[in-house]
Amino acid sequence: MLLTITTTRSPATDLGWLLHKHPDKVQSFDLTFGQAHVFYSEATDERCTAALLLDVDAVGLARQRRNAGNEMLAQYVNDRPYAASSFLSVALSQVFGSALNGSCKLKPELAETPLPLVARLTALPCRRGGERFLRSLFEPLGYAITATRHPLDTSFPEWGESPYFTVELSATIRLAELLSHLYVLVPVLDDEKHYWVSTDEVDKLLRHGDGWLNAHPEKEQIAARYLKRQGKLVKSALGALAVDEATDPDEAAAAQDLAEERLESRVSLHERRLATVLAALQASGAKRVLDLGCGEGKLLRLLAADPQFTEVVGVDVSVRALEIARQRLDRQRLPDNLSGRVKLLHGALTYRDARIEGFDAAAIVEVIEHLDPPRLGAFERVLFGCAKPGVVILTTPNREYNVRFENLPAGKFRHSDHRFEWTRAEFATWCEGVCTAHGYAVRIDPLGDADAEVGTPSQMAVFTREDRTR
Ligand code: SAH
Repeated sequence: MLLTITTTRSPATDLGWLLHKHPDKVQSFDLTFGQAHVFYSEATDERCTAALLLDVDAVGLARQRRNAGNEMLAQYVNDRPYAASSFLSVALSQVFGSALNGSCKLKPELAETPLPLVARLTALPCRRGGERFLRSLFEPLGYAITATRHPLDTSFPEWGESPYFTVELSATIRLAELLSHLYVLVPVLDDEKHYWVSTDEVDKLLRHGDGWLNAHPEKEQIAARYLKRQGKLVKSALGALAVDEATDPDEAAAAQDLAEERLESRVSLHERRLATVLAALQASGAKRVLDLGCGEGKLLRLLAADPQFTEVVGVDVSVRALEIARQRLDRQRLPDNLSGRVKLLHGALTYRDARIEGFDAAAIVEVIEHLDPPRLGAFERVLFGCAKPGVVILTTPNREYNVRFENLPAGKFRHSDHRFEWTRAEFATWCEGVCTAHGYAVRIDPLGDADAEVGTPSQMAVFTREDRTR
């Protein structure tokens, strides 16, 4: 069973730091079910590929098991030595444990950085669902996928197709995320398990699914298959995920929105921010526009009133906010030719969503700072890598300005649900990273009245897709 991971971000041999395995060495590890070997098939500045080869000892495994009963033959004749399965997950956690947990003592910033990565699994069983199911698992996470199905036996084409695929998954993603996705989803595709599932497995699923499983469109299937359809365990896993969901940032923070607005009201910032974003959208010439994280729909109402925009789509993760937005839009008095152009979608910006692909422009106003930092990479992939609007207009607070808000205690964020607030330099660095990774050019504008020392209260980036700048 072979898994390779390739990066092309220079210096590509940094992959060795992340995996804690030196590119010049071949290393072997004893596992309970056989041996794992790690080696690099290429290691240059431009391109580096680490290989994890598992040598599963099927005979040794069969001998370890007693009471084999009538499964005797199946214990000796099976696909375990060749196909990716939960053995791979065990090996990932034992051989690449630090990388899987996202830690890299010597180069911590590298573990936090999304890298162009390609994972290749030479024989991945996709039982019950085939390629369609494979895609439904990895595409929402932002991967580009190539899958080649293998016949059961090339000498006997009449035997038909096997469940095995050679699969390549590509994304610009943190290595820890890639490894967690493989850890959980390979056994889900295999749909078999070499050991009995216990409550420990629920913990592993929740731990390695942290930050992405909760809102995955296939989460029920994933939990059911991962836990071998053990009803009680599946229920408990889904229950734990639902608790996460119940802490809808908005539900708890509705009052906070108001507090943030009050705090900023000295400069009536929000109104100005929306006017500036509207002007930038108008100037871009966009016709079909998205408002991502539209909240209660303030910008949507402005867009709805301008005939330049022929299609307006608001997306938010909070059902409550969408309900309020709908009511407000319905109350808006518009000429007949303009009404009914605004569509609202319930969705999370950290999951690939075909419904938001192919738009001229997208606005993301005061949303990014609500995302958990480890999910930023997913957001970038979904928006700039998959949805790819021609123009992206994104605003976020300038943290340096916080010292000018008299009512804000030092070191606090403007809103209790903000996961971070960036300085001007941090925002610029993030923007540049996005441009390099996804082929956009950016201009950053100040937003609000400028203070000589700490700048403006908010900042706005206007990204233009490179094929539109030429
Ligand atoms: N853009 C609006 C609302 C900003 S408040 C305005 O300027 O008035 C932030 C909004 O982002 C909230 O409505 C919240 O529900 C939404 N949000 C937070 N995380 C999200 C996610 N992962 N996907 C989609 N929306 C999200």
